[in-house]
Amino acid sequence: MNLLSVFDSNVRKFAQKDFIRYNGAGQTYQQVQAKTLRVAAFLQQNGIGQDDKVALFCYNSPSFVWFLLGAWRLGAVVVPVNHKLKARELEYILTDSDAKFLLFDAQLNSVVEELSLSIPKASTQGQVSGTIEIESHLDTVSPLNLAYTAVLSLESVGEILYTSGTTGFPKGCVMPHRSIYVAAQIAAVGVSMKKDERLLMAMPIWHASPLNNWFGGTLYVGGTVVLLREYHPLHFLQTIQNEKITLYFGAPISYSMPMNMLQNFFDFDLSSVRVWAYGAGPIGEDLSRKISAHYKHGDFFQVFGMTETGPTGIVLYPEEQLRKAGSIGKYPLPTVSIKVVDENGHEVGNGGVGEILMKADSCMSGYYKKPEATQEAFTADGWYITGDIVRIDEEGYMYVIDRKKDIIISGGENVYSKEVEDALLAHHEVIDVAVIGTEHPEWGETVTAVLVVKNPESVTDDMIKDFLKPVIAGYKIPKIYHFAEVLPRTPSGKIQKFILKKQLV
Ligand code: ATP
Ligand code: MG
Repeated sequence: MNLLSVFDSNVRKFAQKDFIRYNGAGQTYQQVQAKTLRVAAFLQQNGIGQDDKVALFCYNSPSFVWFLLGAWRLGAVVVPVNHKLKARELEYILTDSDAKFLLFDAQLNSVVEELSLSIPKASTQGQVSGTIEIESHLDTVSPLNLAYTAVLSLESVGEILYTSGTTGFPKGCVMPHRSIYVAAQIAAVGVSMKKDERLLMAMPIWHASPLNNWFGGTLYVGGTVVLLREYHPLHFLQTIQNEKITLYFGAPISYSMPMNMLQNFFDFDLSSVRVWAYGAGPIGEDLSRKISAHYKHGDFFQVFGMTETGPTGIVLYPEEQLRKAGSIGKYPLPTVSIKVVDENGHEVGNGGVGEILMKADSCMSGYYKKPEATQEAFTADGWYITGDIVRIDEEGYMYVIDRKKDIIISGGENVYSKEVEDALLAHHEVIDVAVIGTEHPEWGETVTAVLVVKNPESVTDDMIKDFLKPVIAGYKIPKIYHFAEVLPRTPSGKIQKFILKKQLV
């Protein structure tokens, strides 16, 4: 079993039902299957076969879906790439993944033109001179015979998914078809998806969770995926209303933006939605209350996970949203095992602090061409070491307090950077902040704050220190302050502390 064979069997069951919808128009299961057979033939003509890597550098579009499934028909491997990357970053991923073909969105042509490596490529809808425009070209390609679809073993590789690059260069997670299949199943079971599910794909489809959990899960049950080219607060509400969306997954900000920006929020009919899922970051109690007052129909699920695990992980269920706001939950998703351990690998109970370890059939098989990093990522008995540190409350609910790499050990005391950052963000002058450890001959590390403030000329170190004194313990108060105009972030908005640390050495 793999997701492509599930798709082909769904084509038989739901031939005339829309599998994808885009710009108000539908493509049935049968029509999408026909496209994937043409894509497979096209890729074959371009020399792509078993295990070759096909990179997709696109906004959300039907051609992304055709290429994903079309490449799998040949046993090829799909490398979805963040469409916000600059040429240098794209080049890193194309080289690192050994990509043999690139499908790119015509609108991203200026980035592709800057590449110094040469790679066979085609553009999506929209003319780019000197390149095949795939949508019109496909009609001229005779399709692969369905019977020639590759037989995919569960261990054959289906994707290489790159991590966000928050703690270093993005790493390519090798996802066998087993992982992709199980990640879809976990999401489908986790939120009880039904065959008439209508998913809104407004988050980037190249990202691990939108792709493997939500697109995969909807495909698994035979539902419909409504693609929005890009997230936009107004289009988000309009599409939910017009397309009668039943299921949405997105970052917390995709919920708060429409509430804050659109005065006519309550004019939209969002009553078709059954499940609102969110992840990638916690929602505090205030925001949680505001969101449930706005999105009145449907249940909220928060999911915690990472690219390496499929992704999958831990879930905060609808009935826990308000009482445990800010927590990532207590229970793992179906078929996932978790434990929280201290530095010595001993399990930590309620009231303790430790690192999450995870086991799941949706896990990657390893990092692409990085045997050492792969070995370091798992314990000897096969647990994935997440690098996320949590506090467990008296009822067993977990709260992410830091990444292990970001904990500062100063004079033997552990300082959780997130706690200091939250304290600093409460200062009215502070717009953005990163708290990191810098080397200190005596203390090992010293707590250092990098701040973006409204009025740099009027803010002093002492002002900030005085503000923090009544709020956090003395050893947590940053000793060194740097002021910056902007902090380095990943394209998905996470602060890259490893860059700051390098700059401040
Ligand atoms: P890299 O591994 O390249 O440094 P990354 O870890 O940010 O980047 P992803 O796999 O996209 O790459 O993100 C997973 C991480 O995001 C998790 O390890 C965790 O730190 C954070 N995360 C995910 N979901 C949540 C959530 N619901 N609440 C808090 N943090 C979350
Ligand atoms: Mg990570």
